[in-house]
Amino acid sequence: MTRHDDSLDPREVVGDGSGDPGLRPKTLDGFIGQPEIRSNLSVYLKAALQRTEPLDHVLLYGPPGLGKTTLAHIVAYEMAASIHVTSGPAIQIPGDLVGILTNLEAGSVLFIDEIHRLSRPVEEILYPAMEDGKVDILIGKGPAARSIRLDVPPFTVIGATTRQGLLTGPLRDRFGIVLSFGFYPPDELRLIIERTASLLGFPVTADAAEELARRSRGTPRIANRLVRRVRDFAQVGGSDRISLNTAQDALDRLQVDARGLDRIDRLILNALTERYRGRPVGLDNLAATIGEDAQTLEEVYEPYLIQQGLMLRTPRGRWATRAAWEHLGRTPPSDSDASPGLFEE
Ligand code: ADP
Repeated sequence: MTRHDDSLDPREVVGDGSGDPGLRPKTLDGFIGQPEIRSNLSVYLKAALQRTEPLDHVLLYGPPGLGKTTLAHIVAYEMAASIHVTSGPAIQIPGDLVGILTNLEAGSVLFIDEIHRLSRPVEEILYPAMEDGKVDILIGKGPAARSIRLDVPPFTVIGATTRQGLLTGPLRDRFGIVLSFGFYPPDELRLIIERTASLLGFPVTADAAEELARRSRGTPRIANRLVRRVRDFAQVGGSDRISLNTAQDALDRLQVDARGLDRIDRLILNALTERYRGRPVGLDNLAATIGEDAQTLEEVYEPYLIQQGLMLRTPRGRWATRAAWEHLGRTPPSDSDASPGLFEE
């Protein structure tokens, strides 16, 4: 794996809204991990640049905090295009989208976060704009109303979603490039952690970086957050670097366990094992039991627990696996019929 030392230059990053110096890499070379996404995207970018055309529309799909927004900004930077950032819930009526589309510069990128939350009438404005560079608007009311067609300059939509399945078929079909983000393995997270510590001007020892990487839930946003909080503990404790001891103490105080699970993850696994004793549980019941919103549970917490083999999602409900029982130090029930999920690897 290459070290992206070029990305350590603080001028090469843009802000991530956290109040710290910007941590978002600005170039595709500075983007760590997701090798398939990077290598495919670099070909698509090169081809579009050679043809002096905007990039085809791109759909980025994956759990929160994995770099979708960062990558959208990188695409705009690499294409030397301006970027307009919005989100599904922010575009309330078709007129809002018409206003955005008709004001786009030629070749620019329109980033729509949470694109699965666009309303149907808004989506219907987007289709012809994506496909033919046209928007239809209705002028006037009643029998005197008439529709006029406006041209939209060539542009690229980059849509981000945590749930590809929630996108309507016609919308999904209009994206020529679909990139799916997976959780980052610890060796990639370690590079992100070392880069972040370096940008913050607070060194981290190699063993501490490894420990933080193992406990970052496969997610760069969490890795960055842990680095900032652990730096607070190190700094107030009078250290000039993050050592393994400080990292471990701070992570314990932050209630992040050895596998990187946080308090809510453990509430979920405790509910499945203790309260429901290994029986399948529906999403809404599980959410009510732990006092979380069902959508957050499904989009933020479950993907990592499932990826880690701690939980299963089946048509009958959610199950804790044998690994979950073991992680919590509990003995799984022996009745395999009552809890088939336990015996899946
Ligand atoms: P998403 O849009 O998927 O929720 P973001 O793009 O906002 O995620 O990323 C969250 C944070 O993680 C950003 O501050 C960014 O600095 C960092 N980050 C994400 N992916 C990477 C990466 N591949 N390399 C370095 N930093 C990253």
